[in-house]
Amino acid sequence: YSGNKPVNLISERIHSIKVKDIKGIPVVVEEQTTLYDAIVTLFLEDVGTMFIVSNGYLAGVVSRKDFLRNIMGGTDINKVPVGLIMTRMPNIVMTYSDETVLEAAIKIIEHEVDSLPVVEKVETEGREYYKVVGKVSKTNITKLLVELGRQ
Ligand code: ADP
Repeated sequence: YSGNKPVNLISERIHSIKVKDIKGIPVVVEEQTTLYDAIVTLFLEDVGTMFIVSNGYLAGVVSRKDFLRNIMGGTDINKVPVGLIMTRMPNIVMTYSDETVLEAAIKIIEHEVDSLPVVEKVETEGREYYKVVGKVSKTNITKLLVELGRQ
């Protein structure tokens, strides 16, 4: 008998909490958006990462460092669209509403990224597309840790 040890309780909770329980609202922009407008959105929405969509489906991710790299390289931020500088599919690490928070956290650590788009897979004409329905970031996971710690 050891089922009630605090460590086991925490472990049980971590395995039962799903991405849908903690996911936040994603900030999404179209791939034609200029770097300038995307950076304005980054400040207005107070996020570090944005998801880029094309025809309504996930096309890529742009983070703070992507903007910095391009600005330092002299890119014309009023002309260049985010679609040109984003990290693109199929290299996007994603999560699903029914995945556990633990699985999402492991993806964040292993791929060394700050956030994951929460997606729903759509199949049309034999091809797979992903609708962005949320976001899980290090911040969401830290908030969960604080909540669990305060219980
Ligand atoms: P920051 O740029 O603020 O350090 P990240 O560490 O999340 O933010 O981003 C590092 C790099 O990884 C960037 O080039 C970004 O485009 C890419 N990236 C961010 N999130 C993802 C993701 N979920 N899947 C794939 N690549 C990502």
